[in-house]
Amino acid sequence: MFMRSYTSPRPLADEWDWQLSGTCRDTDPALFYDDTNERGSRRAKRESSAKLVCARCPVVQRCLVHAIQTGEPHGIWGGMTATERESLRKSRTEPLISAAASSPE
Ligand code: SF4
Repeated sequence: MFMRSYTSPRPLADEWDWQLSGTCRDTDPALFYDDTNERGSRRAKRESSAKLVCARCPVVQRCLVHAIQTGEPHGIWGGMTATERESLRKSRTEPLISAAASSPE
């Protein structure tokens, strides 16, 4: 008889509870997300303001890891823009990918 072994899924609250401690909970979400017409200095000013909120957030590391792991494509998460997170993700994984591709099997 075929027996499957299951591990109990972690409670979803464990995955998301960190968000309850985010400093941004008391901040207008619009500060963290651009609108489609936003450019230049206006955008830079908003992003800087959002990053200041993240800088005093107790869960900034957890937030950044979450955004990178999920490929969050929008907004300021963990004190970084989507472009900055993508650069960080590439800088950490591309050397590993290149090394794996060039190593003999
Ligand atoms: S790091 Fe920034 S976006 Fe993430 S929870 Fe904290 S304040 Fe919010």
